[in-house]
Amino acid sequence: MQLSTTRRDIRSLSADDLLELTAKLGQPKFRAKQLDEWIHAKNATSFDEMTNLPKAFREQLAERFGFAVPEELTKQVSRDGSRKYLLQFKDGVSVETVGMPTRNKLAVCISTQAGCAMGCAFCATGMNGLIRSLTAREMVDQVLHVAADFNERVTSVVFMGQGEPLANFDETLAALRMLNAPDGLNIGARHLTVSTCGIIPGIKRFAELDEQFTLAVSLHSAVQSTRNQLMPGVKKFTLLRLHEALQAYTEKTGRRPSYEYAMIDGVNDTNPEMQALIDFCQGTLCHVNLIQLNDIPGSPLKPSPLEKVEALQRRLTMHGVEATIRNSRGGDIDAACGQLKQRFTVPKGGAGA
Ligand code: SAH
Ligand code: SF4
Repeated sequence: MQLSTTRRDIRSLSADDLLELTAKLGQPKFRAKQLDEWIHAKNATSFDEMTNLPKAFREQLAERFGFAVPEELTKQVSRDGSRKYLLQFKDGVSVETVGMPTRNKLAVCISTQAGCAMGCAFCATGMNGLIRSLTAREMVDQVLHVAADFNERVTSVVFMGQGEPLANFDETLAALRMLNAPDGLNIGARHLTVSTCGIIPGIKRFAELDEQFTLAVSLHSAVQSTRNQLMPGVKKFTLLRLHEALQAYTEKTGRRPSYEYAMIDGVNDTNPEMQALIDFCQGTLCHVNLIQLNDIPGSPLKPSPLEKVEALQRRLTMHGVEATIRNSRGGDIDAACGQLKQRFTVPKGGAGA
């Protein structure tokens, strides 16, 4: 086990590298293609799985290469069945990942960065800044880890763990495509959701993609001054421009973005705040997800009372804006990060997508 992390990750080899390697080991050319399929399409994480390769060849490979899969540092299991993992990559950096089963579905929430540079006031991840961005492989490895732990097929992935996916656009896109690949994990594009704090150039690029990936936007306030305070990292991407970019997105794609709105007592749950949210959404294609803020120990920001959340949902609905109240999953497992648990949410009283 230890060895596999110190040897070079065979998955870092390109198709050409694999051809060269196969020749060097005296194997016919078609073995390189088989190897490539196992690594890049079937997402193998051990040589043992590669059953159509001769055992001697697998042994030769295992002597030289390993799989730098992340190591599970901790796993917490909730009464509702969700599991939260702390996974460590080979450079010692670790991130959180959550697996959430519902009947015959398995949703996974992955991190796209260790830490985050955006500094949102209500977010535990943002408090310590960015450590580093993850590679696409590291994102996919989180999904593979959960799939293996549950021994189940993953049916959806949300990029809502630590980090800002659109600040790590290329790797996020590569991960989306790996997860979507028909001969790989084969997760439908609509079941792959990227959540952003509102990086407009990223939203524009996202709108240009051919695939029907789903977009979620963390809104949290439709009042510019409040949003600036809550989300200082996206100050320069004003609500006006965000609104325009989202209009362009819906026109281009015909798809409906969802808006995340974590309700904070006395901050974004007042009458003018509610009215501003209605104005932002009314007449546009969108779906609002309301949630009570997750309490972060030591933070002055507190969750709104449930009655306020329900009142906002009623007001939105009255104005023709679809809104769902979401409940935290895994509420009984360690909320130290204060961040991941709320992402694994299901419609109140329902089973969730
Ligand atoms: N950076 C991306 C994705 C990761 S954060 C983004 O901001 O969208 C995932 C979601 O968790 C976001 O909607 C974020 O605003 C929300 N979130 C962060 N801290 C929270 C908290 N304490 N309570 C409720 N939601 C929170
Ligand atoms: Fe980063 Fe998202 Fe947290 Fe903001 S809410 S600090 S963008 S992870």
